[in-house]
Amino acid sequence: MISETMYELGSRRSSIRELFEHGKRAAAEVGAENVYDFSLGNPSTPPPPALTEAAMAILREEEPCAVHGYTSAQGSAEARRAIADDLNARFGAALTADDLYMTCGAAASLCILLRALTVKPKSRFVVQAPYFPEYKVFTESMGGELAVAPADTVSFDLNLPAIEALITPDTQGVLVNSPNNPSGVIYGEDKLKELAALLSKKAAEFAHPIYLISDEPYREITYGKTVPYLPHLYPDTVIAYSYSKSLSLPGERIGYIAVPKSVTDHDKLYAAVCGAGRSLGYVCAPAFMQRLVARCAAMTSDLEAYRHNRDLLYPSLVAMGYECVSPDGAFYLFVKAPNGDAPAFSEAAKALNILAVPGDDFGCPGYLRLSYCVDHAMILRSLPAFRQLRESFS
Ligand code: PLP
Repeated sequence: MISETMYELGSRRSSIRELFEHGKRAAAEVGAENVYDFSLGNPSTPPPPALTEAAMAILREEEPCAVHGYTSAQGSAEARRAIADDLNARFGAALTADDLYMTCGAAASLCILLRALTVKPKSRFVVQAPYFPEYKVFTESMGGELAVAPADTVSFDLNLPAIEALITPDTQGVLVNSPNNPSGVIYGEDKLKELAALLSKKAAEFAHPIYLISDEPYREITYGKTVPYLPHLYPDTVIAYSYSKSLSLPGERIGYIAVPKSVTDHDKLYAAVCGAGRSLGYVCAPAFMQRLVARCAAMTSDLEAYRHNRDLLYPSLVAMGYECVSPDGAFYLFVKAPNGDAPAFSEAAKALNILAVPGDDFGCPGYLRLSYCVDHAMILRSLPAFRQLRESFS
């Protein structure tokens, strides 16, 4: 017998991957320069040169069996100390190495946290749309359920009454992702303080903590607005982080979980994180990458390339008549389908070789996501096709 659930998951690609594969086929037919692929959130700016230097120095100078060998299950003390130092310096956090757990990227961070916090069948986790589609896969695979608050399609800010309505006695956590994939919105401090007050009220009412799970792979990709450090606003915050975007290392699978000391039942939750990592088979994140992070935790890639792209694509599309919230961070635009039907609009875009992901999987029908972590010249080449597409829906 084979698990039908896993069969379903494995045989049906996500709409993002589906489009990406279509792009490769189209490129073979019409030439790569004539395909405008905005499907995938794959960083288009290289890792910082100092990181490449550090990688070579590690390989040259350090003992190979140590570089490629197992580390402690929770990650090497050096990497965890370096990350704690970096977060303490940037946010005035009070983290120690013992509050950090190294992971294979944000996906693993989330799965481990969800596993550690799922206490009964259908433990509930609440998220606001639009949200990263894998949240549903991760939550359900860990035995929980994802309850989705509808998007506020005016501002794409937190919709607190809708979140409150979904918090039940079975609610273990609320997931937030800011800067947001796919809207690019950064949740402001005032709204987050209101969310914190709401969660404190509900935790008191139900007599158990409600953890705020902050998924932060885009923390450093911002265009002027700051991203509040959530443990300062709500003590029961745990952080899922990844170097996939900030250091342009998505294929290397490296990130961490932070469980600040302020969290209720800190020691037990940290041990449960270790247990969840163990039960999922994530024993020790890639060791070479841990060594690299130990040296490069405070670096980022040249993230200005994304601002340059945003400053071209966003105003150009708005001038053509597209509606879209102005992105404060990350590298996505979430554009309203002019006909209200995102899958149909995505198909029409595909016919002009523009690859844009329908928002339905993000819990927000009627919108499309454009990833602008792409070559700037490709954006320039794509603009006439965007204009033709818009005009065909006038
Ligand atoms: N969370 C969000 C919001 C993302 O956009 C992504 C990847 O794009 C992930 C988590 C997974 O990140 P990683 O590749 O580090 O596992």
